[in-house]
Amino acid sequence: MELDVLTIGEILVEIMAKKIDQDFLHPGEFLGPYPSGAPAIFIDQIVKLGLKGGILGCIGEDDFGRNVFERLKKDGVEVGLIKKTQEYITGIAFVTYFSNGERKFIFHLPHSAASCIYPEDITEDLIKNIKALHIMGCSLAIKDNVKEAIHKAVNLAYEYGKLISFDPNIRVELGLSKEYLETIKNIASKSKIILSGERELSIIGEVNKEEKIIVIKKGKHGAEAYYKDKVYKVAPIEVEEVDPTGAGDCFDAGFVASILQGYTIEDALKRANIIGALSVTKRGPMEGVVDKKTLDMIR
Ligand code: ATP
Repeated sequence: MELDVLTIGEILVEIMAKKIDQDFLHPGEFLGPYPSGAPAIFIDQIVKLGLKGGILGCIGEDDFGRNVFERLKKDGVEVGLIKKTQEYITGIAFVTYFSNGERKFIFHLPHSAASCIYPEDITEDLIKNIKALHIMGCSLAIKDNVKEAIHKAVNLAYEYGKLISFDPNIRVELGLSKEYLETIKNIASKSKIILSGERELSIIGEVNKEEKIIVIKKGKHGAEAYYKDKVYKVAPIEVEEVDPTGAGDCFDAGFVASILQGYTIEDALKRANIIGALSVTKRGPMEGVVDKKTLDMIR
């Protein structure tokens, strides 16, 4: 299977609190299930920009799994690498927002279908036939076998000289063991493009940054990129923020797709910034993906 971009990781549904400051300690109204999972959102945005993208992941044989599978398929994602299991149900993320801008997640992941990704799933044939591999750090925290599978894919992609992009996307709710942080650093060291928040970058700070494109996402403050001795900055697009979850994943896809499509770093940053901004205007992490036609019109 020839792919422009492959990603590996969780395919989930997301259930979100209806009201701001609604906690998980009391009964309340929730909205969803929305198709979600950082790698799934990323790859959906990749194909919306006209590239061939696939995701290796696993869903349960249940309606949550069907919800997200059908959505990815409809949008044009290569779904042939998505496994299905009867052993576990599809992964779920619960999210609630607070008026100080913070979010709280409860992830049902380690004992869900999302944890059924194994090193045996990663073959040389799979990696040989891609142009780029994108990894989300949150996927590494699901379970050791998922981490090992991703590690194997990164090592193979590195050996074959493929473009590797990495978003540490650290979710404290998934745990921050020493081993997990080591893996993050190791993958960062093999990546050509790192797309990160400011705080996350300090965690992987010791990585040799020579030859890497470092992109820093700053939410409603826009974004920056560093390459060799050059600094690129982009001001935020003014939008009404309805739901910030997924902005980073869409932004990553916008940047990686643009680089693969031959845009300069400066233009890739501009395109990603527009995509990130538009993505927060819709409720639901995958609902704000932007297609190529809309993006080209805005520019
Ligand atoms: P997540 O992990 O929730 O997907 P993130 O922290 O990785 O998000 P953000 O920095 O929140 O990523 O958003 C990515 C990019 O999207 C920002 O750098 C910016 O370009 C754009 N963006 C996000 N929120 C806004 C906003 N409210 N207004 C304008 N642009 C935004």
